[in-house]
Amino acid sequence: MVLSGPSGAGKGTVCRALLEKQPGIHLSISATTRKPRAGEVDGVNYFFVSREKFQQMVDAGELLEWAEVYGNYYGTPLKAVKDALARGEDVLLEIDVQGGLQVKKKFPSAVLVFLLPPSRAVLVERLTGRGTDSAEEIQRRLHWANTELGFLKRYDYVVINRQVEEAVATLQAIILAEKCRPQRLKIDKSWGNLSDL
Ligand code: 5GP
Repeated sequence: MVLSGPSGAGKGTVCRALLEKQPGIHLSISATTRKPRAGEVDGVNYFFVSREKFQQMVDAGELLEWAEVYGNYYGTPLKAVKDALARGEDVLLEIDVQGGLQVKKKFPSAVLVFLLPPSRAVLVERLTGRGTDSAEEIQRRLHWANTELGFLKRYDYVVINRQVEEAVATLQAIILAEKCRPQRLKIDKSWGNLSDL
């Protein structure tokens, strides 16, 4: 499952709350060339790498997807995703819309979810209130938010983040519903192949 949405939509908070509520989901840790913010830990929030190292990962085909966001590069390490899927875990990617569409191309069964703040006013308020970014950075993120909204209709689901608990419950409902799709459903062997029924 891919969770995207404009900066300030609350993706980080919603992801953390979802993982707490529903253990057994593997959250992908991205590689980025962005500098760590205060409190961010290498290998926990991101793998913080140099541009050279990032380029090496791209060239070696180690990234499932990658994109440039706000002047920095971000990408999803492929091996960790494959390993988690092989273990039968659900995998959650918190990535931007450019990356989301690349994932859908490579894994058509990926479920793309767009997290939307309840209104434009709330989006602006959340971005300015965060206190971690400069005024210039906030302007850049607001501008990019408009571009990202243009990708919304290519996503499978839209979740409005009014309240974290409500958004998490909606995401859990999506996960549950997606697991009931015939091609994904794990059923008793006695049924044979679902496609033969
Ligand atoms: P931030 O710098 O605020 O942590 O993240 C900036 C943006 O980059 C967010 O929209 C976030 O979802 C996106 N992002 C984080 N990791 C990845 C990734 O691996 N791939 C892509 N395409 N976007 C990412």
